[in-house]
Amino acid sequence: MSETPTHIEFGEYSRRVPPNIPAAVQQATARFLEHRQARVDEMPQWEDLRQAASDLRLHTLLHLDTYLEKLESRVSAAGGVVHWARDAAEACEIVLEIARAHKVRRAVKVKSMATEEIGLNQALAAAGIQALETDLGEFIIQLAGTGPSHIVAPAVHLTKEEIAALFSEKLGVQAPADPVQLTEIAHAALREKFLEADMGISGGNFLVAETGTLVIVTNEGNGRMCTTLPDLHVAVVGIDKVIPDWESLAVLLKLLARSATGVKISTYTSFISGPRAVEGEGGPREFHLVLLDNGRSRLLQDPLGRETLKCIRCGCCLNVCPVYKNVGGFAYGWFISGPVGAIFSPQILGVEAARQLPFASTLCGACADVCPVKIPIPEILLHLRQRVVEGDEFGGPAVARVVQVGAKTAALAFGTPWLYRLGARLLPWLSAPAQRQGWLAALPPPANRWTKVRPFPAFAARFRQWWKGRHPRKQP
Ligand code: SF4
Repeated sequence: MSETPTHIEFGEYSRRVPPNIPAAVQQATARFLEHRQARVDEMPQWEDLRQAASDLRLHTLLHLDTYLEKLESRVSAAGGVVHWARDAAEACEIVLEIARAHKVRRAVKVKSMATEEIGLNQALAAAGIQALETDLGEFIIQLAGTGPSHIVAPAVHLTKEEIAALFSEKLGVQAPADPVQLTEIAHAALREKFLEADMGISGGNFLVAETGTLVIVTNEGNGRMCTTLPDLHVAVVGIDKVIPDWESLAVLLKLLARSATGVKISTYTSFISGPRAVEGEGGPREFHLVLLDNGRSRLLQDPLGRETLKCIRCGCCLNVCPVYKNVGGFAYGWFISGPVGAIFSPQILGVEAARQLPFASTLCGACADVCPVKIPIPEILLHLRQRVVEGDEFGGPAVARVVQVGAKTAALAFGTPWLYRLGARLLPWLSAPAQRQGWLAALPPPANRWTKVRPFPAFAARFRQWWKGRHPRKQP
């Protein structure tokens, strides 16, 4: 249930994270990682698969126009209707038009990041249409009135006790803090809703261009119920989700479930190629595919940034990220969090809107090590940091001019040995009057942003001298 943010303040949001969230997140992500490692260890071809996946995702992105046209023609030939949405507002309007045309009052939804991205639930609610999330995690966070805090496990930040309290309050039942019983309560609340719904809404993990097939991967049967019981099925999928053929799918499916939750294969993998072909067959009477751009084709123009679109939303980079594990998903301010959120959001919303996210990383590189499609996340983070400092064609410089000048001066000093030597000699001498017991209590602007909250160590050591003393034999 996330709306498109106009501004993300990662620092401020991180400070507001409830103290119980890091422990809940760390417990769940540790379990995912342990299972993933077991799956990786039993596959000697893991690294080859990662390389193949990376290559085929990049190849598809570089020929996206060809594959999208092929996909459109195959979906149309199978009786589906393809719509093109330039942005979130257009995508919502397309879904609303379809809903109005069919007098839809109630919709059931499969877990979908694309519909979170466009804020579809809010748009439907504003039009008087009830959209019910049917994935267990999404159902929980819809009751809680929040967005997802993890790509794969949206309610990962909640303990079973908190979920029990939520169910008791919102569903009017006595809910025990027992996962099995909580799941049964959710199923009971949802079962009738599938039968009452006028429309099923889904996203999609992949779109196979060769046959125009929508692929939905879930661990619960709700996906199949949403896409087959109502007479109308609308899928909202990013244009980056297209892949060439079934061979490509075979590679990606091997990586997705193992990277996400550490299982060999997800419980349900559904293949949808258009509406039902003949009366009496299962499936909806109408199938609509809304292909969402929302800044993706602009992102494609950036040779490094475009690698972001290789993402298959496995969530593994979140599980290994020391920053994510300490702040959880909400600090990232949008539907997508963790390392992939830190590179996706600034490129889609503009670096001015999400200027702190590229800095929400230690650059430890763990995300890149586990990413099944080998997205060079740390490199993209550095690339975005540069764009934040130097300005962005879509938003202008996002940091003050004085900081840019400071960074350039520092780069010049560190890159020019004689200037560095001179500075190292002058700084202790110049700052001596302000020194108090080895600390500087106040520095002039812009460095006073630091000393307003903490003292700065006095410029005491000469690095080269110190280095020589530490490694005498290594000096020429
Ligand atoms: S960036 Fe890589 S590891 Fe992270 S969610 Fe996407 S595919 Fe998974």
